[in-house]
Amino acid sequence: MADNYDVIIIGSGPGGYIAAIRAAQLGLKTAVVEREHLAGICSNWGCIPTKALLRSAEVMHLAEHAKNYGLKLEGSISPDLKAIVDRSRGIAQRMNGGVGFLMKKNKVDVIWGEAKLTKPGQIVVSKSSKKPMEPQAPLPKNTLGEGTYSAKHIIVATGARPRALPGIEPDGKLIWTYFEAMVPPEMPKSLLVMGSGAIGIEFASFYRTMGVDVTVVEVMPAVMPVEDAEISAFAKKQFDKQGMKIHLEAKVTKVEKGANSITAHVEMKDGKVEKITADRMISAVGVQGNIENIGLEALGVKTDRGCIVIDGYGKTNVPGVYAIGDVAGPPMLAHKAEHEAVICVEKIAGLPNVHPMDKLKIPGCTYCNPQVASVGLTEARAKAEGKDIRIGRFPFVANGKAIALGEDQGMVKTIFDKKTGQLLGAHLVGAEVTELIQGFVVAMNLETTEEELMHTIFPHPTISETMKESVLDAYGRALNA
Ligand SMILES: Cc1cc2nc3c(=O)[nH]c(=O)nc-3n(C[C@H](O)[C@H](O)[C@H](O)COP(=O)(O)OP(=O)(O)OC[C@H]3O[C@@H](n4cnc5c(N)ncnc54)[C@H](O)[C@@H]3O)c2cc1C
Repeated sequence: MADNYDVIIIGSGPGGYIAAIRAAQLGLKTAVVEREHLAGICSNWGCIPTKALLRSAEVMHLAEHAKNYGLKLEGSISPDLKAIVDRSRGIAQRMNGGVGFLMKKNKVDVIWGEAKLTKPGQIVVSKSSKKPMEPQAPLPKNTLGEGTYSAKHIIVATGARPRALPGIEPDGKLIWTYFEAMVPPEMPKSLLVMGSGAIGIEFASFYRTMGVDVTVVEVMPAVMPVEDAEISAFAKKQFDKQGMKIHLEAKVTKVEKGANSITAHVEMKDGKVEKITADRMISAVGVQGNIENIGLEALGVKTDRGCIVIDGYGKTNVPGVYAIGDVAGPPMLAHKAEHEAVICVEKIAGLPNVHPMDKLKIPGCTYCNPQVASVGLTEARAKAEGKDIRIGRFPFVANGKAIALGEDQGMVKTIFDKKTGQLLGAHLVGAEVTELIQGFVVAMNLETTEEELMHTIFPHPTISETMKESVLDAYGRALNA
């Protein structure tokens, strides 16, 4: 049997590698096992490469509208798809090399291979069944290999993979998952996106800006259905203006494949079935936890709807076995994985005053155009919970910086408890709101009231002033509208 560790983490995504670093900081002898790519989905095939693609789309959009800013660009603007994809992949590779460096710097052992729990405190690492989809940055020099390893605490951070609907399974050629959508060999002329959650709508936004004829089919009554209904409706109007075709309360029931296209049978809201033909289709109907073949059943680790059941500190029902990140359930976001990692490891290390995860304070960001960001309760949920609320709204059209940037389409909506003035939720749509939301996240974490927010000075000119104005509006005191 190889080395004895305090903590072994299975999976090196944002959950796993952050857990490893925090454990090492706390003096725990730590190893992380990875079978495919250091840094996980987030850096390799998720958060970061998609943001690189969306940045190309943003620059393209600005270039196309250069004359609005008094600039003449000669000739037509067109995407160089290979260069766009190469830039995105280069960034992914840089991130993945960065995690290798961090493991070395923090003296965390990297074990390469596929891990399986064999009993509490023990894993067997065998040859990986997965090949990286592309060349990876070199692994740290002293990377370990196959064998049996033991640790007092084992953290499962195996992440998630695309969910598939029966009969509409992605084939990687005509029906893509996010993997293929991120590295298209050529630009499709038309694209059908099934599902308008964050992943689906970000790809819809990217491809639409690139000039692709995009149709989105969403089974729920709103795009980005987890968002506040008013914000979703605002975003949808912008997507409509951009020429995206969006069908809500509609369902893809069947897909026929042609030589180089698909025809989807879409059951519309009124029950009628429409056939929509497109060059390619993206299946973006969610993700499911990687819970299979890692020994959970044999150990009796409880799972529910494809995810491992944990308490607020990442503990499973089996002593010594923990889970964090996507495999431990929604919201499946990198920053949730990272925070769970820190909580879990600090609890293992016996630190005092470790706070359990409060899912209500996890922000959500979607980097479509316009961006959407939110934290806390939506208006509908606050009402469903029987809360007596006050609502403030402020539009970007009344904000000097937004107008100066040529980005006047957006709004901020804030929700307060009428009795206590506590900020219950904040919902934003528009330019750079994914950067702005953090102000409200800090406010909620500090259990800030409306008065404290009103006494906070926001710099001028910034789009962040819309945040304060929204708070003022909730109390009938907006100054610039
Ligand atoms: C297209 C896309 C865009 C996204 N954009 C965002 C975004 O903008 N913001 C955001 O917060 N989130 C985003 N996400 C979600 C984010 O990527 C995930 O929430 C995050 O990666 C979860 O981290 P994790 O550590 O739980 O798992 P992962 O990142 O999935 O890492 C798990 C790792 O475990 C490894 N592994 C699995 N099984 C084994 C095994 N048996 N042995 C050894 N290793 C194993 C895998 O190879 C993988 O590297 C996006 C996801 C996608 C797909």
